[in-house]
Amino acid sequence: SSGSDENDVVVIGGGPGGYVAAIKAAQLGLKTTCIEKRGALGGTCLNVGCIPSKALLHSSHMYHEAKHSFASHGVKLSSVEVDLPAMMAQKDKAVGNLTKGIEGLFKKNKVNYVKGYGKFLSPSEVSVETVEGGNTVVKGKNIIIATGSDVKSLPGITIDEKRIVSSTGALALSEVPKKLIVIGAGYIGLEMGSVWGRLGSEVTVVEFAADIVPTMDGEVRKQFQRSLEKQKMKFMLKTKVVSVDTEGNGVKLTLEPAAGGDQTTLEADVVLVSAGRVPFTAGLGLDKIGVETDKAGRILVNHRFGTNVSGVYAIGDVIPGPMLAHKAEEDGVACVEYIAGKEGHVDYDLVPGVVYTHPEVASVGKTEEQVKALGVDYRVGKFPFLANSRAKAIDDAEGVVKVLAEKETDKILGVHIMAPNAGELIHEAVLALNYGASSEDIARTCHAHPTMSEALKEAAMATYDKPIHI
Ligand code: FAD
Repeated sequence: SSGSDENDVVVIGGGPGGYVAAIKAAQLGLKTTCIEKRGALGGTCLNVGCIPSKALLHSSHMYHEAKHSFASHGVKLSSVEVDLPAMMAQKDKAVGNLTKGIEGLFKKNKVNYVKGYGKFLSPSEVSVETVEGGNTVVKGKNIIIATGSDVKSLPGITIDEKRIVSSTGALALSEVPKKLIVIGAGYIGLEMGSVWGRLGSEVTVVEFAADIVPTMDGEVRKQFQRSLEKQKMKFMLKTKVVSVDTEGNGVKLTLEPAAGGDQTTLEADVVLVSAGRVPFTAGLGLDKIGVETDKAGRILVNHRFGTNVSGVYAIGDVIPGPMLAHKAEEDGVACVEYIAGKEGHVDYDLVPGVVYTHPEVASVGKTEEQVKALGVDYRVGKFPFLANSRAKAIDDAEGVVKVLAEKETDKILGVHIMAPNAGELIHEAVLALNYGASSEDIARTCHAHPTMSEALKEAAMATYDKPIHI
């Protein structure tokens, strides 16, 4: 397969960072090999992350709408049921088709694909224990580490992926749990909690911190939490999980206030541990070649994604920065461009973040808290979807657009959207921030009517002037 002939680029890991880097390298005319241990391309994102979660979010939303909203739109159904095996099969089909699609892209671009576990022998040689059982050595002038991340375990909690599950187990439960407890109120916990809540689970989210999704704009977060509470998601904030034990057919949690105090217990059928993710470098042999990591285990890189070892690079979840698939992809392209002698650039301040609940929450740039901390004089423009005609027409009008702009120059500093489809709406703002636009630039851009996007235009108007429709 790989042979002993040297590659220009060897990528370890076939996730969104690694496979994109491999394709881009091949497109730039570099001889490229990608090594992936999973036996399927696409990494965490495609196999057990972004894609299967969005499949289940969509299917569970359809069920929930059919059960609770169709009638008010004049669509009568005699009964609505969940067929969980069929729902899981649709998810698996989507994942299967997409992973095979990447294999096709590798063939098309002539990326050599080696299935197996990679381990450094030297800064230019990787030994691979192949999935078929053999061993091969892959050589490269440049080696990119794109080994991604793994679920963060909590002390004293053993994940069995049946009753005490990580996000991976939560994407493949064989029945709808009556009671689900989610440990950690980050976006993954809230998305998975939403899926099972819509399918009928009573969901309680336990979080050590005082707030859900700590990176979110505070004002938007409050509205978002209220919306989730209306959907019957319960929150226990500032709460510490002391222990989680399987008991009979269920699970028992012992909790105490984060600040200390009396312990309480909670019972559930399934507990999802989603307290974050950690860089994955096990078995890679980093110490053997002397690659530097920080205290959190992340590989340290310079602005060209080079590690301290010449010819060895790192991208994606395994380095500092937002742990998101699109950020990993941008890293991959920029890293390979540098290797090819070109320029590359990724601005981590302009990586959009999306929570794919209903409504979704999407943001780019700074939160109001961050703007305040910078000491910049700023203006805020807001527009509620209750005043947006398209949202009213389809009776899905919960949410708001919030634009933050510098007072003196009107330059946009951050945009936060809570709305159905906010994850699509945000990109107009992402582009605006990348071009250093002012809020007036957005407000004076003609937007089609009736669309949800008009809410962004009106919020932009409200930033430096008055909106029309409220
Ligand atoms: P990974 O995707 O983790 O890929 C690394 C790959 O390297 C893996 O396939 C692994 O098997 C392989 N590997 C590791 N070590 C070796 C080795 N030694 N040899 C060979 N192969 C190796 N992000 C978003 O942007 N949007 C979302 O909606 C989203 N939803 C998510 C939902 C869930 C439930 C989870 C868990 C994550 C989600 N993420 C989402 C995060 C996203 O999955 C990651 O940010 C992204 O996958 C990181 O890409 P990566 O290429 O750096 O690493």
